[in-house]
Amino acid sequence: MSAILLVLLALSSASSADGQGTTVEAFAQPAQGAPSEEDLSILAFLQAVETAISTTDRQRWLDLLAPSADRDQALEFFDAMVPQGITRVVVNERDRSALTGSLPGEGFRLVVEVFMETGSRGRIATWRLDVRRPRGDDIGRQPWRILNEDRLASIEGLHRLSLHAEKQYAAKHLILRAVDFELRLPSGDVFVSETPEGVTAMVLLGEGTMVFQPQPKEERGQLKLFSGAEVLETPFTTAFVRLNPFEFERRLAKDSLEPVAVDRRVYRRALSEFDENLPKSFNLDLSDLSRDTWSLLPQPGDFVAEVDTRRFDDLTYARSSGEAEDVTLFQRAHKRNISTYGSEQKRQSRGRFFDEDDLVDYDVLDYEVDAAFYPDRDWMEGRTRIKLRVKSSALAVLTLRFADSLNVSSVMSEEFGRLLFLRVRNQNSVLVNLPSAVARDFPMTLTVSYSGRLSRQSIQDESLDITGDSSTVARSAEPDPQRSGQPDDIPFLPAEPKWLFSNRSYWYPQNQVSDYATARLRITVPIEYAVVGSGIAEPGSPFAAPAAAVTGSSRLVQRVSYAFTAPQPVRYLAVVISKMSRVDSATVALDIVPTRTAPPDMSGASTLAQQITRLHAAVSIPPVGARNTVRLNVDATKRQASRARDAIGTAAEVLRLYASLTGDVPYDEITLAMVEDDRPGGHAPGYFAMLNNPPPVQSFGFRNDPASFQGFPEFFVAHELAHQWFGQAVGWKNYHEQWLSEGFAQYFAALYAKERRGEGAFRDVLRQFRKWAIDDSDQGPVYLGYRLGHIRSEPRVFRALVYNKGAAVLHMLRRAIGDQAFFAGLKTFYAEHRFRKAGTDDLRRAMEGASKRDLNRFFERWIYDSGIPRIRYSTAIEGQDLIVRFEQVGDVYDVPVTVAVTYADGRTAESLVLLNEASVVAQLPLTGTVRSVEANPDGAAIALIERK
Ligand SMILES: [Zn+2]
Repeated sequence: MSAILLVLLALSSASSADGQGTTVEAFAQPAQGAPSEEDLSILAFLQAVETAISTTDRQRWLDLLAPSADRDQALEFFDAMVPQGITRVVVNERDRSALTGSLPGEGFRLVVEVFMETGSRGRIATWRLDVRRPRGDDIGRQPWRILNEDRLASIEGLHRLSLHAEKQYAAKHLILRAVDFELRLPSGDVFVSETPEGVTAMVLLGEGTMVFQPQPKEERGQLKLFSGAEVLETPFTTAFVRLNPFEFERRLAKDSLEPVAVDRRVYRRALSEFDENLPKSFNLDLSDLSRDTWSLLPQPGDFVAEVDTRRFDDLTYARSSGEAEDVTLFQRAHKRNISTYGSEQKRQSRGRFFDEDDLVDYDVLDYEVDAAFYPDRDWMEGRTRIKLRVKSSALAVLTLRFADSLNVSSVMSEEFGRLLFLRVRNQNSVLVNLPSAVARDFPMTLTVSYSGRLSRQSIQDESLDITGDSSTVARSAEPDPQRSGQPDDIPFLPAEPKWLFSNRSYWYPQNQVSDYATARLRITVPIEYAVVGSGIAEPGSPFAAPAAAVTGSSRLVQRVSYAFTAPQPVRYLAVVISKMSRVDSATVALDIVPTRTAPPDMSGASTLAQQITRLHAAVSIPPVGARNTVRLNVDATKRQASRARDAIGTAAEVLRLYASLTGDVPYDEITLAMVEDDRPGGHAPGYFAMLNNPPPVQSFGFRNDPASFQGFPEFFVAHELAHQWFGQAVGWKNYHEQWLSEGFAQYFAALYAKERRGEGAFRDVLRQFRKWAIDDSDQGPVYLGYRLGHIRSEPRVFRALVYNKGAAVLHMLRRAIGDQAFFAGLKTFYAEHRFRKAGTDDLRRAMEGASKRDLNRFFERWIYDSGIPRIRYSTAIEGQDLIVRFEQVGDVYDVPVTVAVTYADGRTAESLVLLNEASVVAQLPLTGTVRSVEANPDGAAIALIERK
């Protein structure tokens, strides 16, 4: 029963994560060639097994046993596995291996999947059957006899749901309730689908009203962006609902359903709604075991409504009680999350903040990926070994994230052998069933084999992808270069192709959320390609690899293998493949003051296994500040080679600055991959940074973007390299905290601008931060992460707030608490969270510790809220002093403001005033005759400031 419970959790988690349908597909082995005589005899054997099961005939089962088999045990197995009243059974072979101790062809260990239907109920099980062909005996039309049998895994509680044809109800002021959500149907028609437990699905027809009333303020703000109002109250014509049968009465107002005679015409309408919506959630597609739609029952507290509204098309409301953010409203068709948050009840149980790691079932310790990639066919073949440790108290189903387009051929475990697995269609997921639940700290090693098409990833997070509005972001290459209107005398050069597989590709089987793990990568490519990957190139890499035949031809592809080791844990693995070569390599001397090695932190390591892990980690990972050099490599495509040679000096300067600011460099080696693209951008996984460069003759034309800094051409390399520290070494606890990655990357880039190009360039960058932050702050708080701009498909809003406002907030924090406290706090924050995930509250604690100040309001206003302070000021000269009176209108912010005094002789003097109350009076000593006074000349304060 625990297995099914976990499947359900996995399904609801997948549905709320990206708002898509949840359909699980059983793995079907592809048929290969004509069946051999052996295949046919095994098939006949499996048919005999099917007959024994479908007739529930114990004698037929006994007839299948070998003389030496334990008959009591076999009967016990049969009675336990086969339910009474069985109506249909399918037995499919999944794996066949030679049985030890048998002559070739005389004994096999079969792994079979058995699907059994009992009316509208179903169960699926994986059995192991050891079979042998006794010699010389005449044993009828199929020779195989069972020596031994075992159940490896099972999933129960599947329901083939149907809309009840004999029940129709008239709605009488019906109100159907879920958290912050109601469906109101004053009058109309209602149909139901029932299991023996009760009603689990309903179809509502009529003139109804859907009400969605999220509690959190920022969610009301997002709802307003979507619908124009903070509460969504909108008419609907049809609705489909899934609920737990035991909650049917609780969710419905009493006496709101009155049985009436069934109207066939209305029933047919309801049926079409039912058929369309049923497969969207809590649904298993068993592929070759059954063509029917098999559903699971929603867990108590779980609820899904598919609502056909007039104004907003189809909206889906879901409550998934197992999720940290258990309430969601989304538009399935547009894959658009409108709202997602923790309900009142959820926040009471988990607190205000959450760590995505708290909900994962297991912790990956190490990945070993061995994959071959063929760029001309976008084809990958690979095998990944995952070492993991179970985190939940009892784990029976383990979910892996993995690209839908890659077909899994097997999942093996060192502990259990071959495992039953299911694909969750459209969810990039694999559900792996364990033979029995395993306990916390159980170590497992899984090996997943796969192959299939894999298209390259467009750049996303830990990165800059300038894909915004095409009217303002010039995309220099039109889709068809022949018709691009290029003048004839300028040859069009397309960008050198590249393939990036990273955190959004799910190109290797991985944990459901990013998970710090060490890794080894071995990537085999055709000989003309090169690979840059997460890790340090192993000595001798690239290695010659055996040539491979091209499918459908006799041509052989010459290949090479690139091998990387990541001795320091990385959040995810990435590779970029293009026609590159090594341009330069250097050891960069850093300016890190070595720190004393602290003993490994054993707090919270309750079990011996956890303590050993910590000790191991402490031994293999150098302590913060232990390195004083870093190896820097630059790889580039041929046409970018000279640009790449120029970049190495800049990259070395950047690394030196960041190492001194943080007191550490997280990795021994960092590689810069200079590739070509028609659009500017970059991507920064652990150990490397990929930078897009325009192909020759083109240039990037993008001006009106939060990531475009005129006069700071090193911006991209500075931003991407900062991600080695923030984003990679220090991760984020969930999507809300992404500003810790992008804000720091942006701020560090600004600090490099100041070092390289001086105060003027720095101020230009600050002014741009301010402009974008002020323009877009009404779109929501920084804390909404990727959801900023998501509802209106405006990625510039995301960059304006998560990148630029995030960076500006860090600068204001620095000015509010002073350089010394800020940089000390920064080092502490980094050191405490290196190779771990951090949250805003962690940063706040580090900065409060360093500054001895309460920073609650600072972060509350700047990160969790979306306002911009409005400030008025007036000036007066009293004696030898300038008196500046500041007033904040509305909410009080902590805002440091620069006041510049220009004297008659042309001198300018600047002072810093911290506004932390509704009115603040600053008294600034003067040294001459004042010509003018200006507040916020540097743009460092994200505020609307006017002189009274
Ligand atoms: Zn970034």
